[in-house]
Formats: sequence, structure tokens, C-alpha cells
Amino acid sequence: MPKSLRLAAALALSALLAGCAGTPSSAPDDDRPVVLTTFTVLQDIAQNVAGEHVRVESITKIGAEIHGYEPTPGDIRRASDADLILDNGLGLEAWFERFVADLDVPHVVVSDGVDVIPIAEDAYAGLANPHAWMSPVNAQIYVDNIVRALSDLDPENAADFATNGDAYRAELQAVNDELVAELDTLPANERALVTCEGAFSYLARDTGLTEQYLWAVNAEQQATPQQIARTIEFVDDNQVPAVFCESTVSDKPMQQVVQATDAAFGGVLYVDSLSEEDGPVPTYLDLLRHDAAVILSGLTGGEG
Ligand SMILES: [Zn+2]
Repeated sequence: MPKSLRLAAALALSALLAGCAGTPSSAPDDDRPVVLTTFTVLQDIAQNVAGEHVRVESITKIGAEIHGYEPTPGDIRRASDADLILDNGLGLEAWFERFVADLDVPHVVVSDGVDVIPIAEDAYAGLANPHAWMSPVNAQIYVDNIVRALSDLDPENAADFATNGDAYRAELQAVNDELVAELDTLPANERALVTCEGAFSYLARDTGLTEQYLWAVNAEQQATPQQIARTIEFVDDNQVPAVFCESTVSDKPMQQVVQATDAAFGGVLYVDSLSEEDGPVPTYLDLLRHDAAVILSGLTGGEG
């Protein structure tokens, strides 16, 4: 075969493999192990570790509300055929314990070992804030747990999982350094991050931002008049230039805050779900970069 043709064939093959990794085929002759994750962010992280050796699929779809999700009979069928299920833990998936109770499939909590931040306010005060993946430092612990889980499942490919994990951890560290440097350019009086859900405690800790939110976790979701009043007061007191809301919930209560204050609506942040392939955050690394850019641009009046 001429060299150019060989190259074309190699490119076609790698495109095919990449396609398989993104949207796992359910072809009957595909005998790779099947790993399910509870949501799309974990799917992407796990797929980066798995490479082509494992089919990784998410139980919840893109854009779904993942805290109070109600599994369908189809989810249960799919899960009972899976070889492993990966969940975030820390109380993120309120539905998960019941979901796996009757399943004879192993599951692994990927947040095991992270330095947990407790929820500060409201009904969930004192419980772990479940959004630990919003710190790319924590996500490296997720990667270690996934490398171990996949190696137990498929020991023949353990060396590849370790190599993939190392490479992905290096990318996460690079994104972390990028975010810290970017957000470090914010002046002290613009370091408040006001969102709908209290999902940014970990990123705020890593990047030195002050976090304020309407509600602590999406399980409560309905912003109370007290929560809206508290947020308005915070925005006024701190002259916060912009407020934000997450992609999987309604921004209506935050628009009330915008109406009542001088703050602008700074944009949509992604936490609990990736976007579609042609959206702003098809991967977890995109999600981190996108959120940092939206925060920076919002808090600096669009100059960021
Ligand atoms: Zn959430």
C-alpha cells in the first residue's frame, strides 16, 4: 500500500475508534466490558482512562437533573447487563442506593479519598458537598479510583489503564494550573462567585473565590424567598458585578436577583452534566475551561 493510502487508512481507523469511544456502539459482536456511570461527567473521565478497552455509558442523559433522577425500567435492564457501575457518592445520587439494591453488579464510588467540604447552609448543612469533581485536583483522585476499578475488572489491560490515567491526570493538573492563574487575575473585590446551586465549593477553595448560592444542592432546588433575599443582600453588600446559574436548573430565581440588584447575569455554568457534542462543553476538560472563562468574563464585565 502506498504511504499516503496507509496514512489515510490509519486515520480512518483512529477516527472510527474515537467515534466508538464517544458513542459506544451496542453491536452484538462488541464483547468489551460495559461500565455504566451515573452521569455524563463521570462517563467522560472514565472513558479517558478506559481508552478503547471498555464501553463506558452514562445512565443519566446529557442535561438531566442528576440528584433526584428517577431511573427507568430501561436503566435497570441496562444496569443488570453491565459489568461495573461507577457512582460519584457523597450523596450526589439520591436514587443510587435503591437502584443498585437489587442488582448483582459491582459498583465503585469514584470520589473515595477526596478531602470533603461540608455544606454550610440550609437543610443539608453538615453533609458532604457532593460536587467534588469541580476541583481538577480532586478529579485526579477520581482517576486513580477509576484506574483501580477498571484494572480489577479487566486485568489484562491494567497497564494501558495506568498509562491513560497518568496522561489524563497530567491534563487535569495543567487545566488546574490554568484556572488558578486565570482566576488569580481577579481583583479582591471581584472574587465572589454567586450561583444557583452551591456546586462550586471545591473550585472556589482551589481558586480563592468566595462562594454564595441560592440553594445548597439541587434536591431542594425551589429557591425560597429567604434564600433569594439572602442572595440579594450578599450581592448588594459586596457589589457583586455578575451572578450565574447552572445548566441543569431554571435560572428564574437568579433573574430575580438580577432584577433586584446592580448585578448582571453572567451566564450559564456547567456542573452536573456535559453538553451535546456540538455544545460548549462536550468533555469534562471543556467544562472546566468554559466555566472559568464565563466566571472571569462575567466578573470583569465581559473584558475577561
Ligand atoms: Zn449538582
